[in-house]
Amino acid sequence: TNFNSLSLSRPVLKGLSNLGYTKPSPIQSATIPIALLGKDIIAGAVTGSGKTAAFMIPIIERLLFKPAKVASTRVIVLTPTRELAIQISDVGKKIAQFVPDITFGLAVGGLNLRQQEQQLKLRPDIVIATPGRFIDHVRNSSSFNVDSVEILVMDEADRMLEEGFQDELSEIMQLLPNKRQNLLFSATMNSKIKQLVSLSLRKPVRIMI
Ligand code: AMP
Repeated sequence: TNFNSLSLSRPVLKGLSNLGYTKPSPIQSATIPIALLGKDIIAGAVTGSGKTAAFMIPIIERLLFKPAKVASTRVIVLTPTRELAIQISDVGKKIAQFVPDITFGLAVGGLNLRQQEQQLKLRPDIVIATPGRFIDHVRNSSSFNVDSVEILVMDEADRMLEEGFQDELSEIMQLLPNKRQNLLFSATMNSKIKQLVSLSLRKPVRIMI
């Protein structure tokens, strides 16, 4: 199979080919069609499996299907570290490089808080965040509005729990609109992950590669 058979839009296909991605990895083949339907997903996927594009491709397509009338943050990607957040943002920007009007923002520790606030105020479509800094922004600045979020990605959910972000994750679920799509990626599936799943996901499709 190649990416053409996944019924993706032309600009996304062009972005993928520019990145040198010619055919989908197994996690991408399994995840993309289900995510495009708007369903919740829990996927067992390790780093190196191509999981970043597995969620970025359907996210960008879903934003394209239904353009927003006003600038609003529509997607939150939570990941355990700043380094991972920057990598995800770079991959997303490359996939979306031929898609007009998709904007990215970061909400991560270790980078200038005021500068991030200015960026978040512009309501980027996709915000990639670490859990602690996400909460700092929502609590301390009126500029970060999450009322229009339609999709939440939890990347490396097991690592986020290991780093002690359990309370932050629960708080974030409370802050986001109830009606949203959830995509959770984790290398391992333990009881803490199952608890997080039951707290946040709705009838998830399980994908184990
Ligand atoms: P990830 O698991 O998202 O960290 O991706 C692991 C590596 O695989 C990264 O270097 C990606 O650029 C690369 N990659 C992801 N998807 C594909 C694909 N469909 N074809 C070729 N390389 C890919």
